[in-house]
Amino acid sequence: MRNKIIAGNWKMHKDVNESVQFAKEIVAKQNNIPENATVIICPVFTALFPISEVLKGTKINLGAQNMYFEDQGAFTGEVSANMLISAGCKYVILGHSERRTYFGETDEIINKKVKKALEKNLTPILCIGETLEEREKEITNQVVEKQVKGGLANLSKDEISKIILAYEPVWAIGTGKTATPGQAQDVHAFIRLAIEKIADKKVADSIIIQYGGSMKPENAKELLTQPDIDGGLIGGACLKTDSFYGIIEAAKAK
Ligand code: PEP
Repeated sequence: MRNKIIAGNWKMHKDVNESVQFAKEIVAKQNNIPENATVIICPVFTALFPISEVLKGTKINLGAQNMYFEDQGAFTGEVSANMLISAGCKYVILGHSERRTYFGETDEIINKKVKKALEKNLTPILCIGETLEEREKEITNQVVEKQVKGGLANLSKDEISKIILAYEPVWAIGTGKTATPGQAQDVHAFIRLAIEKIADKKVADSIIIQYGGSMKPENAKELLTQPDIDGGLIGGACLKTDSFYGIIEAAKAK
């Protein structure tokens, strides 16, 4: 039985003071986290270190929203895996659709980041998902398969088993449109099969595949009880304690 992993992607919201305050509010409710759930928060870079101090000894884990694939050097504006680790991170979101769309990230770049994160023992949350146009053209499966193969290229089975995948249909991110539980389950089952082909059944059966795209307390239970949905990557609804916990608490539903 796979556990549920609920991650909050704060995106470009909250300055350092607001972030620390919000992290404290999340910690204050940590007794509401179900036993079968792991909670991760992914604030902006500038708030990572102060938040890591707040999270020490708590049940809440820290992740970043991006990183670069080189260790150090003349890469203005970039942050390395080691730097994230030294700021207290255990997880890093890679290949988010906003990175792909606004910052030109390709599967090749994302693959380099995934490899570097794994080399440094940071757990990548690798995001994949189709656009509305691709869904309407009925090429969703081809698109996600290409992203999975590209993002995981040249990785061993052991390395693949350490990754978290997040299926995030681009048309559902920040739009209020959610994939129906059936639509999401179909793609998740397809992704699990793709992992079985690239790695093996053992890896496919154990890998965590989160759903992301306008998940909120009202729809979380139905999504999280689908057999192949193992958690959520949450944007808008993770920015308020009540809605974030509304989703976290829904993770205990069988
Ligand atoms: C996201 O950005 O990963 C996301 C799922 O956003 P939202 O929940 O706002 O759709």
